[in-house]
Amino acid sequence: MTASEDLDQWNKEDLLEKDRKYVWHHMTAHNENPMIIASGDGSWVTDIDGNRYLDGMSGLWCVNVGHGRREIAEAAADQMMKLAYATLVQSHIPAIELAAKLNEWLIGDYRIFYSNSGSDANEVAFKIARQYHHQNGKPSKYKFISRHRAYHGNSMGALGATGQAQRKLKYEPLGVGFQHVPPPYCYRCPFGQTKETCSLQCAKAIENAIVWEGPDSVAGVILEPVITGGGMIIPPDDYLPMVRSICDKYDVLLIVDEVICGFGRSGKPFGHQNYEVRPDIVTMAKGLTSAYSPLSATAVSSELYDSFQEKEATSHFRHINTFGGNPVSCKVALTNLEIIEREDLVGRSAEIGNAFRSGLEPLQEHPHVGEIRIFGSAMGIELVEDRESKIPASVERVTKIVMACKSKGLLVGKNGDTVHGFANIITLSPPLSSTDSDVDFIIATLLAVFGQEEEKG
Ligand code: PMP
Repeated sequence: MTASEDLDQWNKEDLLEKDRKYVWHHMTAHNENPMIIASGDGSWVTDIDGNRYLDGMSGLWCVNVGHGRREIAEAAADQMMKLAYATLVQSHIPAIELAAKLNEWLIGDYRIFYSNSGSDANEVAFKIARQYHHQNGKPSKYKFISRHRAYHGNSMGALGATGQAQRKLKYEPLGVGFQHVPPPYCYRCPFGQTKETCSLQCAKAIENAIVWEGPDSVAGVILEPVITGGGMIIPPDDYLPMVRSICDKYDVLLIVDEVICGFGRSGKPFGHQNYEVRPDIVTMAKGLTSAYSPLSATAVSSELYDSFQEKEATSHFRHINTFGGNPVSCKVALTNLEIIEREDLVGRSAEIGNAFRSGLEPLQEHPHVGEIRIFGSAMGIELVEDRESKIPASVERVTKIVMACKSKGLLVGKNGDTVHGFANIITLSPPLSSTDSDVDFIIATLLAVFGQEEEKG
């Protein structure tokens, strides 16, 4: 059955009625008239009315290989028939093969612990870090440092690590022991510095936090290579290496959250590989399966893992989840990674970013564009009321641009920090498999939307 024949069997009004009655939507007040997405093909999705949109955010920064990959569906079906489930107290072939494959993508040896979501992967990282210190004679090391504006997930610990107030209000108290420092946000440097005067106060803020919290109380630092959902905040090149050496100095573990930046999004296999640091723990999800099936992983350096084996009988990691490392999800991930490798989608990601850089050059001077930030194929366009004052663009202006893109067939994201009026960053993160004509479409649509904005003033 083709996608359009498939649509014929549905009655939109009936679906909407059931949606209004039964579905609790994510992250939004009840949406009376949601877009019902019915199918996807490559970089495009089709709604129930047959309208096609370029999926400029790959869903939620996750459909890296694009929609409609029959090869993945067939691999999943095949694995379901062979073995739909086994626990990881024992082992199974796809989990073994995938762990080995991830070690080809990472630099140095890592042990792979599987879970279901990015939030889970971060929770696992926190627990491993605490247990590591505990059984190495430093049980008081329990705190984690993260950055304002960061997002690390929805569960109580991962939300504790998150540095965006609006996501936490009404749910506190969260997991304890999470401290936040200012991010490396050069466009609005929290330390009032410029490129010329920068002495990486943002990295030193991490050292200060460790010192003032007490090095004996700090277990780890968690960060994304670039802050993605918090507004595409790209650090200076020396930031991550400096954080690595600060962590080493105080026996603090460096946890790198690659939930978005991993699997080619950054133009390298993993985002941290742009900065030549070796994390102690790497967390990953989304692009691991391109969201064809839920799966996440926490990769733990072999040095760290070994210390779990050297101690007494109770030193194993006491954590289990039913679905983590499901054989079908692992097989999906393996097939997804095969596609990324075969089609060199990591290289393609960098090419897409370069095309954005040159194609969107005319927007650099637009009165409401403060800065365009590109990391691999992920892009943030920071909107302002005026370039001089850098006052963040109003919610109305940002919404108008998002809606104008949608009316022209392009889905974009809107990120930042709504409590402080900073949800002023338009984000794009299209499938890495986007063709030249998809990329041209994105660029042409953005130029047209911003052109109209300029005319209206
Ligand atoms: N870390 C980062 C950087 C994320 O962007 C997200 C999700 N957007 C998460 C963790 C949490 O992942 P999940 O939604 O799969 O729990």
